[in-house]
Amino acid sequence: MLHVQGLTGGYGKEPIVKNVSFDVQPGEILGILGPNGSGKSTLLKMISGILPKQAGSVEIADKPAGNYSPKAFARNVAVLPQMHAHAFSHTVRATVELGRYPYQTGLFSSWSAEDEAAVNHAMERTGVARYANTLIESLSGGEQQRVFVAQALAQQAPLLLLDEPTNHLDIAYQQQLLDTVRSLAVDEGKTVVSVFHDVNLAALYCDRLLLMEHGEIAKIGLPQDV
Ligand code: ATP
Ligand code: MG
Repeated sequence: MLHVQGLTGGYGKEPIVKNVSFDVQPGEILGILGPNGSGKSTLLKMISGILPKQAGSVEIADKPAGNYSPKAFARNVAVLPQMHAHAFSHTVRATVELGRYPYQTGLFSSWSAEDEAAVNHAMERTGVARYANTLIESLSGGEQQRVFVAQALAQQAPLLLLDEPTNHLDIAYQQQLLDTVRSLAVDEGKTVVSVFHDVNLAALYCDRLLLMEHGEIAKIGLPQDV
C-alpha cells in the first residue's frame, strides 16, 4: 500500500532523512520510534508531500504520491501532524468537518448524509461529540488532540500517517485511541504509519517497528526484534 524507496531530503541543502526505504501493507500498523530530532516528523512530512524530496520515491496504492491531485491525495491519505496550526476560533464540529473537504465538489451543495455520518462517527470514536458546539480554544490540550484525531478519522482515508497521536492524552484515552487505530487496521484494512515516543506502547499496538537514528533507519522489524 505504501512503498518508500531511498527517500532523502529535509528543509535545506543538508538532508535530514537519508536513504529511507520500507513498505507497509494494508491492515498493518508500522510504528516509528527514535530520539528527539532523529527525523521522524520530517519523514512523515516527506511522505505527505509537505516537504520536497531530494531523492527516492513514495508510492501510494501503486501510484507515485506526486501524481495525485491534492484532493485525491487527501482522500487517500489522512495526516495527523505533531503540531497543529489551526483556526482556533472554530467549533469542534466545524474542525472535524474540515476532514471531509476532500470529498466536497461544490461550495454549498455537496454535503451529504455520508459526510454527516463520517463526522459524527469520528466524534463518537474520539469522545468529543459532547463538545461538538464548543470552540476549540476553550478545550484542554488532550481534548484538542482528540478533535484533530477525529478530523483525521473523518477523512476515512485508506492510509493514515500519525505523528504522536497519543500526545497530551491521559492513559485511558491513549488506550481508547490505540484500540481505535488497531480496529481501523484489523477490521477496516487501513494502513497506518505512526510515530511513538513510548516504546512499550508502540510494541503493544504495532505489527512492526522502525527505529530512526540521525535520519536513517537503524532497525526495522517485529516489535520483539527492534
Ligand atoms: P521529536 O521526537 O522531537 O518530534 P523528530 O524525530 O520528529 O523529533 P524532526 O522534527 O524530524 O525530529 O527533526 C529532525 C531535524 O530536522 C532536527 O534536527 C530539526 O532541527 C530539523 N528540523 C525540524 N523542523 C525543521 C524546520 N521546519 N526547519 C529546519 N529544520 C528543521
Ligand atoms: Mg517529531
